[in-house]
Amino acid sequence: MVRAEGVRKRFGRLEVLKGIDLTVERGQVCCLLGPSGSGKSTFLRCINHLEKVDGGRLTVDGDLVGYRQHGTKLHELREREVAQRRRDIGMVFQRFNLFPHMTALENIIEAPVKVGAVPKGQARDLAQQLLAQVGLADRGHHYPAQLSGGQQQRVAIARALAMKPKLMLFDEPTSALDPELVGDVLDVMRQLAADGMTMVVVTHEIGFAREVGDTAVFMDEGVVVEAGEPGQVLVEPTQERTRAFLSKVL
Ligand code: ADP
Ligand code: MG
Repeated sequence: MVRAEGVRKRFGRLEVLKGIDLTVERGQVCCLLGPSGSGKSTFLRCINHLEKVDGGRLTVDGDLVGYRQHGTKLHELREREVAQRRRDIGMVFQRFNLFPHMTALENIIEAPVKVGAVPKGQARDLAQQLLAQVGLADRGHHYPAQLSGGQQQRVAIARALAMKPKLMLFDEPTSALDPELVGDVLDVMRQLAADGMTMVVVTHEIGFAREVGDTAVFMDEGVVVEAGEPGQVLVEPTQERTRAFLSKVL
């Protein structure tokens, strides 16, 4: 579903991604860990067309990110085509980013109705189903301010799922939550993984990564330091940098 080969990205003189190699198979969960500033968010943003890759090759579901292939020729995607590709990718951020003036239900139906041209009744049915899936069947008419952070994050996940994405990206989805609210959000993600969703999850929840991740990738300073089975990378890392990081977050 995702294949990165030597992916590079720089902001001016700062090289943030220095040749990332990484593969996420369909239906797998890849957990991405690493110190602040190592390029994790930038990498997710590249996958989701929010940043342009400067070098290497990045494909999502076989399509080269940012380009359309025509025979042997590559054409840069137009804005409309980028928007179309992005519909297939759901993203959940550390900050829930719900529309504050809309109820949970309205937040969820917004994109399917406005962008996906789904009839409103049908979108509402799906939204209600998604609210039940994230354990908030009775919260559809609440505004974000009336919900806890964990509930808001679960609405954000439901909203991303409403576009029926083939890939879900999570950027530290529980980092802004009070500790007692983290579990419910991780439970929703765990269930999503069990249902077969392909996921890339930036997280420092080592327990979650070990239990749910098919692969764990440790990044530092724009490179993949170590990648493999979570039970190996997170328990018996071979690299000193991985060990040092884990000793800080555990
Ligand atoms: P992480 O998510 O691992 O903490 P980021 O991908 O957010 O790391 O950032 C990696 C580096 O890139 C940081 O040094 C950050 O300051 C820099 N960076 C990220 N986005 C931009 C940007 N739009 N312009 C300039 N520098 C950026
Ligand atoms: Mg980040």
